[in-house]
Amino acid sequence: MGRIGSEDNPLRVAIVGSGPSGFYATEALLKAGLRVRIDMLERLPVPFGLVRSGVAPDHPKLKQVIEVYARIAETPDFNYIGNVTVGRDISIDELRASHHAVIFTCGAESDRNLGIPGESLTGSHTATEFVGWYNGHPDYRDRTFDLTHDTAIVIGQGNVAADVARILAKTGPELAHTDIAEHALAVLAESRVRTVFVIGRRGPAQAKFTPKELREFGELEHCDAVVDETELELYDASRQELDDKTNPGARKIYEQFREFATRRVSGKSRRVIFTFLKSPVELLGDGKVARVRLEKNVLSGEPYSQSARGTGVTMEIDAGIVFRSIGYKGVAIPGVPFDSRNGVIPNADGRVTKAGAALPQVYAAGWIKRGPTGIIGTNRADSVATVNSLLNDVAAFDSSSAKRGADAVYDRLRSKGIRYVTFSDWKVLDKREIDRGRPKGKPREKFTRVQEMLAQLDQ
Ligand code: NAP
Repeated sequence: MGRIGSEDNPLRVAIVGSGPSGFYATEALLKAGLRVRIDMLERLPVPFGLVRSGVAPDHPKLKQVIEVYARIAETPDFNYIGNVTVGRDISIDELRASHHAVIFTCGAESDRNLGIPGESLTGSHTATEFVGWYNGHPDYRDRTFDLTHDTAIVIGQGNVAADVARILAKTGPELAHTDIAEHALAVLAESRVRTVFVIGRRGPAQAKFTPKELREFGELEHCDAVVDETELELYDASRQELDDKTNPGARKIYEQFREFATRRVSGKSRRVIFTFLKSPVELLGDGKVARVRLEKNVLSGEPYSQSARGTGVTMEIDAGIVFRSIGYKGVAIPGVPFDSRNGVIPNADGRVTKAGAALPQVYAAGWIKRGPTGIIGTNRADSVATVNSLLNDVAAFDSSSAKRGADAVYDRLRSKGIRYVTFSDWKVLDKREIDRGRPKGKPREKFTRVQEMLAQLDQ
């Protein structure tokens, strides 16, 4: 038996999750100069994770990375195995037996909670639900969103909140030629929401939007971006943050808010109002959201570590729907260590740890490794770092017998009667989605149910 990574004993790696970090880990392994075989397992039949089901439908350029991922997937040393839930259909121990290493790149699939009364009222939703719904993610296909009230509230001032607010701010015709799921377009086109509050618990200098995403609100066809100038007064510590030359993004964001505040509101039919230093303390309503009680905050602390502190002064806003967009959180996988407080797999440089010690053969990259931060490209360096840790460990892997890799996985799935999906299958679905979209002038019309996807493949 040759050394691991040689022609007769390829380095076999299972990657769990087919989003950006999974593909960047694959790319790094393919460039490692070893003979490698990579098997990527994905819970859904369809690949690409948040690029397919997170990136907003009106941001098609951000989805172009899919072309890069598809090229990676076409290499002969790579297998895509979709419609497989690791921890249920196949265990982590089975993957460790069939592969030299397993890399978890399964992202952050759930949300953080506000932990306030009324959070579970009807009409209170996580951003994840709404984003998954309009992007045709099967898990959220059948969610319902009542957009009959004039006012919606989005809690949080990150890019996900920006996506949610922008989609609410756009009219049917503005969304019609995107890849938005048809069930969502039908509801959004009839939306009666005209005012969207986007609420930050800290100040305008701490908003986490990226400048481009905030600027878009000033360019919407039927929606004004509104900021009350009096809300742009700064604490000394915030002024220092904005004066810091190494922090140009925050200054751009602040200047954009200032530009919104000085604009004459043009009387478009919709408006997005950015407001600061307010935390939701209760969602109120008789079984259904009718109002949100907010507490006004002050900031305390040094530059870059200012936190919001409630003043006891409250106010209420009437609203029919609330979206909590306060950050994603990873979900535990049976048999894999999990840090439930932070929603990540505990690790040191990508090596998964259990009680502080490295768990042999198991790695993590992307949001499940470091938490839900950064843009798509941030995951490349993160995955490269994990793959470097893995490559440094190869000498310690068991080289006494060759690993069976994908063959063992296929045997296991067949024995359980699981209809797994290959990359060729995905290409069939991809083409059909594109064909379905064409008559509507859309880049694609997604299949939004797992059964529907599988039925397409087995007709
Ligand atoms: P995020 O950027 O971390 O923003 C979370 C927001 O929620 C912050 O404003 C945060 O305020 C607020 N928040 C947290 N806990 C809160 C609480 N208890 N009460 C009130 N507000 C609370 O997260 P995200 O928007 O979910 O985005 C995740 C990542 O994906 C980010 O890196 C983002 O840039 C990226 N993303 C990028 C794009 C794009 O490039 N177009 C699109 C979508 C997402 P504090 O600052 O006070 O904590």
